[in-house]
Amino acid sequence: MCFLCLFVAYSLFKMRKTTFLKRKVREFSFIGRALASTRHPVLAHLIPMRRCNLACGYCNEYDHNSKPIDLEIVKSRLNKLADLGTSIVTISGGEPMMHPELDQIIHHIRLHGMIAGLISNGYYFTPDRINRLNKAGLEYLQISIDNVDPDEVSRKSLRVLDKKLRYLSEYADFHVNINSVIGGGIKNPDDALTVARRAVELGFSTTVGVIHDVDGTLKPLSEKEKDIFQQVKKLGNKDHARLNWFQDSIAEGKPYNWRCRAGARYLYICEEGLVHWCSQQRGYPGIPLEQYTMEDFDREYNTEKWCAPTCTLQCVHQVGILDNWRDPQKTPAQMSEEQKSGVGQMIGAD
Ligand code: SF4
Ligand code: SF4
Repeated sequence: MCFLCLFVAYSLFKMRKTTFLKRKVREFSFIGRALASTRHPVLAHLIPMRRCNLACGYCNEYDHNSKPIDLEIVKSRLNKLADLGTSIVTISGGEPMMHPELDQIIHHIRLHGMIAGLISNGYYFTPDRINRLNKAGLEYLQISIDNVDPDEVSRKSLRVLDKKLRYLSEYADFHVNINSVIGGGIKNPDDALTVARRAVELGFSTTVGVIHDVDGTLKPLSEKEKDIFQQVKKLGNKDHARLNWFQDSIAEGKPYNWRCRAGARYLYICEEGLVHWCSQQRGYPGIPLEQYTMEDFDREYNTEKWCAPTCTLQCVHQVGILDNWRDPQKTPAQMSEEQKSGVGQMIGAD
């Protein structure tokens, strides 16, 4: 290697190390803030585009014809999330890389001092596109890879995406996590292990998820799937494994007892700008983000979710850990009784 190449490699290494440290400091400060106060969202998933270039067999989150949401509308939603005190905004879809103004969206998240993340199927990454995302200030990217070779359930396949992963390994300044999956009709569970090994080889972190079925709830794993699941977990990020102990119960087909804070600490904002509990429970509470108040926040924070025991959504579980030890929740029936008696007291009724 010539001197110039060595110098470039060293500068790149130094730059990545500094970026990594800055990101870690920001992460810790956000965690500290989340532990100190329960009254702000920790993570919001924002959908600027429902359209996707793929059609995975287990997915209920895409269409093939919707238009990108106008940049100014997306910015106004981000402004509102910032006003609510949101720490992390992850752009998701559909396939968000199809949004023509994704860079400006990422940049706007960073202007507000929020952490910027992206979930993508990986198809659109080129060196130029990665450099533009670096400049925009993207901090985290997650790609889920479902199998090694494409099949009728999924084309999010290692063979198709390997070149894109190599580009990311070479050019990305942001953190890349590769999530492999088990369950949900994925034919060959061994593929999850192949995907995770390749991710580690390329210097990415890796996680494994149990895929939810179409209504967002649990699909029990076979013995073979359970075995692969444990092997992949060992290859992955230790911190992540510690945060995801709920998955052991789910893999065994057992319900898991936790407090889902969706609608409060976690928000899912659909392309129409409505707040939902999550991607799998769209319609609740279904309130426009611009009208969302801390009263809505408190109600959802304190409401027990009927779907929690079999929920497989990793990111909402991780947010839930921050408050699992405090503020027991009430059932929707108890909440509405409380609200009625509150109104009764206010108007002096029996
Ligand atoms: S790539 Fe993602 S959004 Fe698109 S169909 Fe597959 S799972 Fe759904
Ligand atoms: S428990 Fe929470 S995150 Fe899971 S499906 Fe229900 S509302 Fe969504």
